[in-house]
Amino acid sequence: MSDLVKFAPVRGMRDFIGDDAAVYLFIVDFLRDIATRYGYNFLETPILESTSVFARGIGEETDIIGKEMFSFCDRSENSVSLRPEGTASVVRALISNKLTQTLPQKWFYYGPMFRYDRPQKGRYRQFYQFGLEYFGSYDHMSDVELIALVDDALRGLKIDGIQLKLNTVGDNETRSQYKSVLVEYLEKYEAELSPDSMRRLKTNPMRILDSKEQRDQEICGNAPKILDSLTPEARDFFNKVQEALSFLGITYEIDHTLVRGLDYYDHTTFEFKMKKPDEEGTIAVVGGGRYNGMVQQFGGPNIPAVGLAFGIDRLMLACGSAAGQKGQAIAVLNVDDADQNEAFKIAQELRQIGGVSVLFPHQDGITKKLRFCDKSGVSCVVIVGEAEIKKQEVTVKFLQQVKQFAASTEVVVRIDAISDFIHKAFL
Ligand code: AMP
Repeated sequence: MSDLVKFAPVRGMRDFIGDDAAVYLFIVDFLRDIATRYGYNFLETPILESTSVFARGIGEETDIIGKEMFSFCDRSENSVSLRPEGTASVVRALISNKLTQTLPQKWFYYGPMFRYDRPQKGRYRQFYQFGLEYFGSYDHMSDVELIALVDDALRGLKIDGIQLKLNTVGDNETRSQYKSVLVEYLEKYEAELSPDSMRRLKTNPMRILDSKEQRDQEICGNAPKILDSLTPEARDFFNKVQEALSFLGITYEIDHTLVRGLDYYDHTTFEFKMKKPDEEGTIAVVGGGRYNGMVQQFGGPNIPAVGLAFGIDRLMLACGSAAGQKGQAIAVLNVDDADQNEAFKIAQELRQIGGVSVLFPHQDGITKKLRFCDKSGVSCVVIVGEAEIKKQEVTVKFLQQVKQFAASTEVVVRIDAISDFIHKAFL
């Protein structure tokens, strides 16, 4: 095995470099801004948690817990897992930090998640989510707020062909009534179900609606709908969510098979799908819903909650490399070694402006420095030479057109006016 093969990234994991890195950062910055505008605060939880946090939060019967976690024993023989999603850790954090009496809490987080799934385009073993969680509100407008935030974000990111799929899994009473109707229907097809679904018929029949197996999906296509089992309270909640979305002009489609892969949902569930880039079909780009029972499941008080997660990798596919275009850069160049400190001081001053990157190229000699600036797309250079320093001046040379300054224009500027000049030229 060659060293190169040996040191390739682990299957399903990858580096973000160049355009990918720029687009990742652009999307995260964009979502951070939007989350802040909707009143969500940043929190960060560890990437590694006790395996029991996820088993408790996500549910033993899910594919995530059953098949997809990266779990191992640490040196003290404790079972720990890389987080496969964010919500369970955030609920753990709400309780560990004793914040259950300080409600509401509206949080956002982002970072890598890990699932041992079959890698393909848009599906990775290390992938990135941007999540939002809202604790402490039973009001249907909190569900609406999160859906509206996603709608806002996807429009802002100019992602076309988005469909919002909406469903409800009702309340506890709805689900216990629905489970018996569903089992009665599925038992007729028991022999045709996949082995996992056959087992779930006994342990957690609603999970079967979420199966990725084709025959399971065909059978579920004709299954009784949960919408027909809703209690009056659950129906009222769902109606109010729909009324508000319609009022806001947010279009949606009801998808009664949308129960989602996680065990903890209650009432609203939703998924935003987008067209697969360069391929037939759609993929989910955002998933979320209400999970009123989960805080209690962790031993906390009965606290309502609603949340969602954007799949950043999929947003990156949809946005393309143009989204991550860098801002403009300028460079400060010293002509001789003796001018280096003076030139660096000017670069430091220009770095206070913000909105424009200031480089200080290291190459030997002004010719090599200029060649580097040309190649790297630098818009203008500030040349600092001995004669100019004596006169307290620098020469600004534009390598590209910037506002009224055509490429090749040279302007002599006083050192005490250089910040002002660059600010006006670029911002
Ligand atoms: P979930 O936590 O399963 O509801 O996923 C929320 C979002 O994360 C999905 O809509 C996807 O956009 C994204 N996602 C989930 N799993 C993966 C994966 N293995 N690779 C890339 N993105 C994923």
